[in-house]
Parts: sequence; C-alpha cells; structure tokens
Amino acid sequence: MIKKILIANRGEIACRVIKTARRMGIATVAVYSDADANALHVHKADESIHIGAAPSKESYLVADRIIEAAKKLNVDAIHPGYGFLSENAAFAEKCKQNNIIFIGPPTSAIEAMGSKSAAKHIMEKAGVPLVPGYHGDDQSESLLKKSADDMGYPVLLKAAAGGGGKGMRLVNAEQEFKEALAAAKREASASFGDDTMLVEKYLTQPRHVEIQVFCDQHGNGVYLFERDCSVQRRHQKVIEEAPAPGLAPDIRQQMGEAALKAAQAIDYVGAGTVEFLYDKDGSFYFMEMNTRLQVEHPVTEFITGEDLVEWQINVAQGQPLPKKQNELSMHGHAFEARIYAEDPENDFLPSTGRLSLLQPPQEDRHVRVDTGVLEGDEVSVYYDPMIAKLVVWDEDRDKALQRLLKALREYYIDGVATNIEFLYNVAASKPFREQDLVTTFIEKNKQILF
Ligand code: ADP
Repeated sequence: MIKKILIANRGEIACRVIKTARRMGIATVAVYSDADANALHVHKADESIHIGAAPSKESYLVADRIIEAAKKLNVDAIHPGYGFLSENAAFAEKCKQNNIIFIGPPTSAIEAMGSKSAAKHIMEKAGVPLVPGYHGDDQSESLLKKSADDMGYPVLLKAAAGGGGKGMRLVNAEQEFKEALAAAKREASASFGDDTMLVEKYLTQPRHVEIQVFCDQHGNGVYLFERDCSVQRRHQKVIEEAPAPGLAPDIRQQMGEAALKAAQAIDYVGAGTVEFLYDKDGSFYFMEMNTRLQVEHPVTEFITGEDLVEWQINVAQGQPLPKKQNELSMHGHAFEARIYAEDPENDFLPSTGRLSLLQPPQEDRHVRVDTGVLEGDEVSVYYDPMIAKLVVWDEDRDKALQRLLKALREYYIDGVATNIEFLYNVAASKPFREQDLVTTFIEKNKQILF
C-alpha cells in the first residue's frame, strides 16, 4: 500500500494531488526550486525537499534529483502531475528501477504515444479512425509533397515529436508547400531535435473532443465520457467543458469505445486522454493520446462525481477500477476557465510581478478553484504563468455558463495583467452561448472578443 507520495511538480497540480492524498490518509512530499521555497504546495505538503535552482531544467526536470529526494524521504510512489516529467518514459523507468511506484502508465505505453507517427501506426492497426494523412518513414520532400497533393489542400504539417503546437504549419495551397515544410522542420529541430514530419488533411471546422479513459492492472478499462476543448488560442486550450455540447449519445459511445480500443492497443494502465478531432458530420479522428492526468480533468470530476487522482493512486497500488462502465454516469454540465497572468492587449505575453491582490470567488458545490498561489506571491518568468483553474458546475449548460460568468466577475487580481476579462468576453459571446464551437473559435470571433 502507498503510504507516502512525492509530487514531482509544483503549483496548482501539486496542491491538487496533496488534497486527495491527505483525504486518503497518505503522507505527501513536495519538491521545490529556489523560486518556490515559500510556495503554496510546499506549505501544504507534510514534508518538503529542495531540488535545485529556479529554472526547471535545473530542478523540476532533473529526474535524478527527484529520485534521490524520493529515496531520501522513503516515499513509496511519485505522482508526476502534468508537464515536466509526466510523459518522460526514462523517468518512469527510473522510478521502477528504484522500487518507487510511478503513478502513471507503464513505460512502454508512454513510449508508444511519444511519437505522433508511431502512435498513428499503432492506432491504424487497432482500427481507430485517423485523420487522413501520411505518417510514414520516408521523409523525402517529394514524397511528403506528393501525399499532400494527392490529399488535396489545405493540409497540416506536424512534427512527429511535436507538442504544444510547435512544428506545425498550415499549408493552404501547393505553391506554399516547400516553404512551409522548411519552416516546420526548422521549428521541430529546434524544439525537439527531430524534424520527422506528418502530413494531415486539414479539417476546416473541427471541434476538439477528448475522451477520458482509465485502465487498471487487471485488464479492465472504462471511459469517463468526454471534454470539449475547442476554444483554443495557438493550439492551447482556453475554456474546456464537459460534456461536449450537442454530442449525440451514440457518437459518445463510439468515441468512448474507440478511445478504449486505443488504450488497450498499448496495454494502458492509469488515467489517459485520447484526443479526437470531431467533424460536424459526426465523424471523428484520432489525434493523439496523452499519457497523464490532464489540466482539465476537474470538469470530468464534476460531471461524474469521481476523484480521478484517487483512482490514479488506487490503480497504481494494484486495485481494480472502482466502477464498471455501466456504473458510470454523467450529470449536469461543467466548465473550466484557465486564469493566466498574461496580457491579452499585448499578444498574451506572460505578465510577471507580485500578486498584490488575489481574491478568488467563493468555493461551494458549484464553484471550484484549483490554484497554487497566494496573495503576495510572485509570478515569475520561470514557469507557466497559470494562476488558477476556475471550474463551475450546474444542472445544465446555460445555468453552468451563468455560474462561470458570475465567478469570473468575482475574481479579483491585481499586480499582474490577467486574461479574466478576455475569458469573460469568450464565455459571454453569442457563438459560445449558442455552442458554435470550433478550434478556430477565437480567430473567427476576434472582432467581438477583444
Ligand atoms: P500538439 O501536440 O502540438 O498540441 P495536436 O496534434 O494535439 O498538437 O493538435 C493541436 C491542435 O491543432 C488541435 O487541438 C486542433 O485544434 C488542431 N489540429 C490538429 N490537427 C488538425 C487537423 N488535421 N485539422 C485541423 N486542425 C487540427
């Protein structure tokens, strides 16, 4: 049984994991860099240990330092959160070698999904629908271009090793291909040290709908429905919701089953998310699988009433899933808005400084605020400038949306610029209210959002 967990992360997700661990009677260890000596997650944990300098490359990303800390404090398990080392197969393997439970999937599953092209090969074999495209080994320019020409423009070039929208280029017409390929390859090399490219048919008005899956070590798997994350800026999620508005029950079931097929194809264990592009006509296509807990997991917790971190911990210690598919149901509607220290008037550049005022809305059974900062804290240049996740729930989408608008109005922050007003504009806009969700939502509606 797991008695002590080290959380190899910081900020809101470290606090989130501590909350559940504490409720389960499990002791917690926080790790921190020089910049985080006084951070909320350090105060909340039972024990804490310093792991290095402020830049993440010198602390939160140093696998050996974290393993060393875990051994020193005798922890049974490590929860990686999201980001940092959460999808690093070598780190998961190191945990195993040191007899520490990695609260996440097996190393092989992380590796299998680490490359978009390898992942697509696996999914193709498993019969999961893919976006039409080319994901082969032959990377000659002539072949890549021929596959684009055959598919018909627009196409999307994607880095096989990609993430965070990097190494991606939209190509609208044949004559743009050569230049776009060179640019995508340059960016991929610089970001990932690998310029292998995929060519995909570019869907013009898709939605991003992802399925939460969970598998245990005994061959059981379930899906906990879906999240719609179509509202994105530069391929980064801005507002997420569950369930996906207007998704027909039979499509939901088909997507859920396809996602489980994807997970089973790689002998998945733990929490995972299978991302699909969903087209208006009801077709959906596998995009990628994230082998960790997602930032937006709270919307799923709200509609299912389950604690996904508790599930993760129990699965990691060998327990079977607590529920079968037919015992899971969803109720009501939830939204998550990501509150960022960034300046929408200055191209959303991160805004650093001291949080001289930080007053979130009152939490209750409708409103949840997951945060990792306190009033007086410094938003530094070193980490992702997310201040909090504001999550709301109500019986239906309209009521939940009213909750979201009210909570955004009651969120007071001073000292840094924030995106709160922008989030409000999105949530209050007519197309959002009318569920006109597409991944190009912000671009398409910029006239009314700014
Ligand atoms: P990354 O791993 O870099 O985040 P993804 O493959 O997850 O890249 O894609 C990120 C986003 O890009 C998606 O959520 C979607 O908005 C858009 N996108 C990806 N592939 C396509 C496609 N074939 N057609 C249209 N939009 C796409």
